[in-house]
Amino acid sequence: MEQNDVIVAYGMDAAAMAREVLRAAGIEELIGRRDARIAFKPNLVTAAPAEQGGTTHPALLEGAIGYLKEQGFERISIVEGSWVGERTARAFEACGYAELARRTGVRLIDTQRDGAHEVDCAGMRLQVCDCVREIDFLIGVPVLKGHCQTGVTCALKNMKGLIPNSEKRRFHAMGLMKPIAHLNAGIHQDFVLVDALCGDLNFEEGGNPVRRGQVLGFRDPVLCDAWACREMGYDLDEVPYIGLAAALGVGSADLEAARVTEVNRPEALARPPRPARRVAALSRCVREREACSACYASLICALERLDGEGVPAPREVCIGQGFRGETGDVGVGACTAGFAHSVGGCPPRAADVLAFLRGLR
Ligand code: SF4
Repeated sequence: MEQNDVIVAYGMDAAAMAREVLRAAGIEELIGRRDARIAFKPNLVTAAPAEQGGTTHPALLEGAIGYLKEQGFERISIVEGSWVGERTARAFEACGYAELARRTGVRLIDTQRDGAHEVDCAGMRLQVCDCVREIDFLIGVPVLKGHCQTGVTCALKNMKGLIPNSEKRRFHAMGLMKPIAHLNAGIHQDFVLVDALCGDLNFEEGGNPVRRGQVLGFRDPVLCDAWACREMGYDLDEVPYIGLAAALGVGSADLEAARVTEVNRPEALARPPRPARRVAALSRCVREREACSACYASLICALERLDGEGVPAPREVCIGQGFRGETGDVGVGACTAGFAHSVGGCPPRAADVLAFLRGLR
């Protein structure tokens, strides 16, 4: 797998999808030595289950750990420190990681209880938790989701869990963007396994999950976050730490150069019986027939952005495989190609859907 590769798996079976992504990446060759110390860094910002859209699904790590063990890797740990105001130990229990560790035998490392040392992060001196020095191969497992301050959060901001609480507070005093970029010049992620199953629409702690039904693999965390922006309907310059990280040499945000491998095709999945209130409000104009989750999530993210701009949504937007071969007015996705106004893509990106909806005015 090269730096510009992106691997995509669709569905909701997190463990199986994680295995497929790691297999397609050839992760065993990327890691190399069987005695390498491998650490997974999920996002357990709060003590809330992954279904609420803020934390990483434990089944994703279960599948990944199982795959690595089958390949002969045994020195595996999970490292995380929740946000200031939450105890990581509580999050490990509530999010299913204590149970996961008991079942798989991997070590849980709470970075809130770790020491720290100073690291020169491309000219910015930052405190980093000591456990990072004991990692040979770091796998970030962020949630692709919205964030009330940065708009989008995924691979780069996830590294904040590897600094002490005092440094997290200082990050906010420094305006977040620059220190996030510099931190990633000091902590190298060897692989990013993205939980894009049901990340939150606009809050990092969850509450408005949008079912997207994807697991993604990247070697480049900057490319990963550029991808996340497009999936959430943001332009790159709206999330400045991504461009700053690219300028520091952390990676490339060039999506045009990305080489995408899909291990399967999107599936139509039943919508949750009771979508989050915000998602339900946004979907009032949506007429859906067998829409794939990735397609539906792009439309919801675009409608959220449109609403934020104060632009009224169209009276009705059709989406789903049930509209194939049909005609109509406004449609989203390749399945609505016969409509008078339609945006292509299978699945379409939120950024493209947003541009399309803006253009209807
Ligand atoms: S365009 Fe159709 S097949 Fe493709 S993702 Fe959307 S609903 Fe699914």
